[in-house]
Amino acid sequence: MRNNVDVNAEDYLISHGVKPSVQRLAIMNYLFSHKTHPTADEIYMSLHSEIVTLSKTTVYNTLKLLAEKGAILALGVDDKNMRFDGDISAHAHFFCTKCGRVYDFGFEIMAKINSLASVSAEGYRIDDSQLNCKGICSECARLEAESE
Ligand SMILES: [Zn+2]
Ligand SMILES: [Zn+2]
Repeated sequence: MRNNVDVNAEDYLISHGVKPSVQRLAIMNYLFSHKTHPTADEIYMSLHSEIVTLSKTTVYNTLKLLAEKGAILALGVDDKNMRFDGDISAHAHFFCTKCGRVYDFGFEIMAKINSLASVSAEGYRIDDSQLNCKGICSECARLEAESE
């Protein structure tokens, strides 16, 4: 699921128990093609010129529904804004406090953690696990070093 640009959004929504509508398909396709972990506002700003009937409330409600159905991830990596991810495979996130970008990493580590947790005898059923890290990304660190 890491590279899911070729996934048909309609089939994808149906497989997650979500009835596909024009708005839902547009939002799902946006998340498939934008790996930037956008905020709800960013998604709204990009889509409302194409779909004039799209309201901010619809975007918020759709994202909430998609996250509840497990079709997308709602990330708490950024304190100020909820971020959304169309890649639901287990991976960790890195938030750069300087440029605000959210990066993917730790695919192998998270898969290992989830498989360890699922075989643990403690009886917990894990539906969601997030590993969020914060700091300065390599690009910002490089720019910082250059300006010194
Ligand atoms: Zn950065
Ligand atoms: Zn991600």
